[in-house]
Amino acid sequence: MQDPIEPIESNVRGYARLFPTVFDTAVGSTMTDTHGKSFIDFFCGAGSLNYGHNNRQAKQALLAYIERDGIQHSLDTVTSAKVDFLDAFERIILRPRKLDYRIQFTGPTGTNAVEAAVKLARKQTQRSHVVAFTNAYHGHSLGALALTGNQFFHSEYYGSHNDVTHLPFDGYMGDLDTSTLFEKMLNDPSSGLPLPAAVILETIQGEGGINVASDAWLRRIASLCKQHGIHLIVDDIQVGNGRSGKFFSFEHAGIVPDMVCISKSIGGGLPMSLVLIRPEIDVWKPGEHTGTFRGNNLAFISARAVLEYWNDSDFEQQIEERSQRVQTKLHAICAKHSARQFRVRGRGLIWGLDLRCGDLASETIAEAFKHGLLIEGAGAHDQVLKVMPALTIETSLLEKGLQILESAVDASLF
Ligand code: PMP
Repeated sequence: MQDPIEPIESNVRGYARLFPTVFDTAVGSTMTDTHGKSFIDFFCGAGSLNYGHNNRQAKQALLAYIERDGIQHSLDTVTSAKVDFLDAFERIILRPRKLDYRIQFTGPTGTNAVEAAVKLARKQTQRSHVVAFTNAYHGHSLGALALTGNQFFHSEYYGSHNDVTHLPFDGYMGDLDTSTLFEKMLNDPSSGLPLPAAVILETIQGEGGINVASDAWLRRIASLCKQHGIHLIVDDIQVGNGRSGKFFSFEHAGIVPDMVCISKSIGGGLPMSLVLIRPEIDVWKPGEHTGTFRGNNLAFISARAVLEYWNDSDFEQQIEERSQRVQTKLHAICAKHSARQFRVRGRGLIWGLDLRCGDLASETIAEAFKHGLLIEGAGAHDQVLKVMPALTIETSLLEKGLQILESAVDASLF
């Protein structure tokens, strides 16, 4: 066996601190490090591996494509890989949902999609203000960062954010309906809120702590946007691609956003991002919003392969069955430690166990890691354990991972 590579301490950032080992291979929901130790993955590349690591169909399609010298990179010239993806996305995803969107490829990463959507809303409405929400996470480059709530990511030196107002997300004020506040501010010329170009939201805030907006709240926000000519942008980067139990998270509420940001799992494991745009508001001329790596052909190939899951009429039901297993275990953990008043939130296969204490959550994550489970924290104080396995995880691995999680919580408490 190859000598284990030790992470270089000075170069260890972010996830490398959370998971202090060197990973080497991965298949499905299992990652293996250079020591040969296997881990069950409930982290899922922060939502970019919904179909598992080295998904078999994606891998076979990629190998065949590379073997026949398919185009790898061509800026955004038309390629057969691109045409096949676009055709399948229209046929498998958009048409059955009666959705009519144009597709703008925006680059390799989710942030690129967020920035493009906001730019287009600003140009189309000729207004610059944008409403985002408390605990929102939309990325770290300067434009997207202005929309991200958590002050940990901000610095006064990153420039002005005076074109963004953060309003309270659903549930932020307990039972108070925060859409009423938005309505009141829109209708009050003294509220200090300029008429925004766009409202951007996650229907389930992933990084913000698995905060699930109710369907009624989403419908109310959508209707206020419509009344006032504001573009509703749904950031489905983390909870799209089936994570919520349906392909698009907004399907649950029955709303149709003006724009939808998609990334992470759309590429079947490879980097890709895009914005879906209602055709009427697409005012960009060809070439007005570009970037060298928009539309990576290898990503088109793997993206096309994983879209096949959505041709299977049982897929949503399979996600729901796994969802039930997660819910059952998380509620059992809460019941066992009822004095601690842990909370469970989520939908589909994104669940949060709110331990109400960041230190307890990080101890649990470290304990889980020791016993072969990768799980991440979320929320303003990293106090929420984010249970986000692949949509395709085998039941036995899911149950094993949940068992490790329960033992890790128990061990961190005693
Ligand atoms: N929006 C949401 C909802 C996200 O979860 C993320 C990434 N966690 C982003 C935007 C930014 O995506 P990326 O890191 O790929 O730029």
